[in-house]
Amino acid sequence: MTEILNARGFDFHCHVDLAGDPVALIDRCEEMRILTLAVTTTPKAWSQNRKWTSNHRFVIPALGLHPELVAERHPEVAMLESLLPETRFVGEIGLDASPQYQKGLSLQKEVCGRILGAADRLGGRVCTLHSRRAGAEVLDLIEKGTSKDRVLCILHWFTGTMAMVKRATELGCWFSVNGQMLARESGQKLVKSIPLNRLLTETDAPFSKEGDRASVPWDVSRTAERLAALHGLSVDKTNEMLRANATHVLAFGGIH
Ligand code: MN
Repeated sequence: MTEILNARGFDFHCHVDLAGDPVALIDRCEEMRILTLAVTTTPKAWSQNRKWTSNHRFVIPALGLHPELVAERHPEVAMLESLLPETRFVGEIGLDASPQYQKGLSLQKEVCGRILGAADRLGGRVCTLHSRRAGAEVLDLIEKGTSKDRVLCILHWFTGTMAMVKRATELGCWFSVNGQMLARESGQKLVKSIPLNRLLTETDAPFSKEGDRASVPWDVSRTAERLAALHGLSVDKTNEMLRANATHVLAFGGIH
């Protein structure tokens, strides 16, 4: 159960279970009222994450199989499919075509395609997707395997081109943005091309940085301030827009 209207901020992609003390982090998210999507990297982590977050209003667990783990863990896709009826939030999934994972890209495509297909068959699923150096390939999978009215895709930490942002938008995708994406001018330019009505905040904690330290979910308020500055909007107006966007995405996943 959540209280969207009470939330002070939204972190749509956070690795709660990779924190030093996940239970303390979940408690802090509750205290700070940061609505946090707790992604997982293997379906084996699902049951523990679900236990940790049960009886919490602001932290929602998601069921995932990270592309960087697919080479070793691809047989776990069957486990993910069997657990999928238990949740409407899926992630982290996706593709990674960085040099060290490039060799396994076809297997990654097979696994990600299978998960998107399962999500589409069940419908009402929200997926958070990784797409490092594989923006076009991820969009191909979304286009081929899902329909907009059954699966809502969030491209997390998207670093493709502006043309890809446009294509993704036409496919119905949303974008979750973290502070590190806005650190450089090239990132700001790309983020600015994302339609305001498809924009969400995230941290990818503990992987993104806020200054010199690893990010934490409540850093999303700084990101909202940076987005306000980027678009020349007031912080209040930006937060209002981010709340409306979050409300839509969460409602797609059955959370009101
Ligand atoms: Mn991640």
